[in-house]
Amino acid sequence: MNLDAFKAVLDGVAMDERPAVVRQKSRDFYWYSPVLKRQLDGFTGDLVVLPTSEAEVARVLAAAFAHDVPVTVRGGGTGNYGQAMPLQGGVVLDMLQVAGITEIGETHVTARAGTLIEGIERTLRSQGKEIRLFPSTTATATIGGFIAGGSSGVGAIRWGGLRNPANIRRVRLVTMEAKPRVIDLTGDDIPKAAHAYGVNGVMTEVELPVDPCTDWVDVMVTVDDFADANLLAISLGEDDGVLLRMLSTFQPPIPELYFQRYRAHAGTGRAVLALMVARADLPALEARVADWPGAETAFRADGADAVTRLPALYEMAWNHTTLRAMKVDPSLTYLQMMFPRETMTETIAALGVRFGDELMLHFEFTRFSGVVSPVCLPLVRFTSEDRLEEIIRILETEYPVTVFNPHRVTLEEGGMKRTDISQLAFKRQTDPKGLMNPGKMIAWTEPDWTPANGRNFLFSE
Ligand SMILES: Cc1cc2nc3c(=O)[nH]c(=O)nc-3n(C[C@H](O)[C@H](O)[C@H](O)COP(=O)(O)OP(=O)(O)OC[C@H]3O[C@@H](n4cnc5c(N)ncnc54)[C@H](O)[C@@H]3O)c2cc1C
Repeated sequence: MNLDAFKAVLDGVAMDERPAVVRQKSRDFYWYSPVLKRQLDGFTGDLVVLPTSEAEVARVLAAAFAHDVPVTVRGGGTGNYGQAMPLQGGVVLDMLQVAGITEIGETHVTARAGTLIEGIERTLRSQGKEIRLFPSTTATATIGGFIAGGSSGVGAIRWGGLRNPANIRRVRLVTMEAKPRVIDLTGDDIPKAAHAYGVNGVMTEVELPVDPCTDWVDVMVTVDDFADANLLAISLGEDDGVLLRMLSTFQPPIPELYFQRYRAHAGTGRAVLALMVARADLPALEARVADWPGAETAFRADGADAVTRLPALYEMAWNHTTLRAMKVDPSLTYLQMMFPRETMTETIAALGVRFGDELMLHFEFTRFSGVVSPVCLPLVRFTSEDRLEEIIRILETEYPVTVFNPHRVTLEEGGMKRTDISQLAFKRQTDPKGLMNPGKMIAWTEPDWTPANGRNFLFSE
């Protein structure tokens, strides 16, 4: 890597080499994981480059290619797995200035990749429209970072996650070559770059579907029993008469211990459902809750509670649950798992017996091929890395769940659990020198890799 030569050809492009800034911009929310915190704490880039346009992104990538400088793209830096952390130094490419909505049509919006998601939604709502899906970090995350590093979020109960082809229309990216190309991916080609941690090009613009906007109201329902709360959640998720944008459940004592501003509403020892409900369907929801033994509405953002100016309920849900809990108890961490709904009740009971409060369950409800399905983001009381690995092994071998390990920095070991051949093939075309976010795609250096329980690819001690 020849950084001096790289900088010399980028006259006019903003850069920041102050060590404190470079270090801060080399970090994301990797510290959610005690494992990644230990492994990644020392990693930092050499400088931050702040392009303002697609043309500047292309200049940066051409210069990086010429001088063998690794480039790690950064949006809002809210990723949880160290995705945006440079493992081989080089450039942190800060995309926050490549921002702004470029077009709003009847059924779509196009925005530059560095646009904050909340800004897109706000502008759309002023025109009677809304996006389908956003992470609970919508206030600080970029749309490019969400597509490159996220997976799902608010809206999933209606539209499924980002992998649902209905949720992304087009992704435009710039390649890392001597003469960078600008490529528009549509349809079946989108997964080549979506959820690829920016290893095969820099997204500069995305096109998303939009729908007529709904007036959503935050509602909290409490239920005597957690397994029962999840049955209520599934039945509400399947009810065409109650339009939902979010459907989450929390095992006690999560809400009463960690949702400090909502604690008074959550009650003691009660399971909680957090919902975003269409205002027009509130009477239907109330009727359903009244008919469900042991359930009661504990909070409605349209009622007397509205004046208390509580944070949006989605800031208790998705991966905000972990953040709320860690603020109160830093010894906590989390897992992510698929949880078959057919055996949900028995599995909840069995995990309670086996793990007690070492595992506190939290579900987000999404749609897989149209079917309302739980995704589990449990809080885990962390004692040691060995015990964490053991918990994962027990869960995967003794219970009908699949763990997506959030304590791994690579694409394959974390979310995917396999090599994505199309992403690898695309990377060979778009990043022939392997300079984009190096270290995040195992297949680049080991195409035949297969996952093994407890094995850690980059950091096997
Ligand atoms: C409190 C909290 C709650 C969260 N809730 C959710 C949630 O509800 N749903 C969810 O899916 N995730 C969630 N996350 C994870 C994270 O917020 C999302 O992945 C988020 O959308 C990432 O956006 P970002 O702009 O911060 O991306 P960053 O963290 O900056 O980057 C994420 C990845 O994308 C790459 N990247 C960024 N921009 C580009 C680009 N323009 N081109 C190519 N690659 C790029 C980066 O290199 C990195 O690998 C949460 C995280 C936290 C801390």
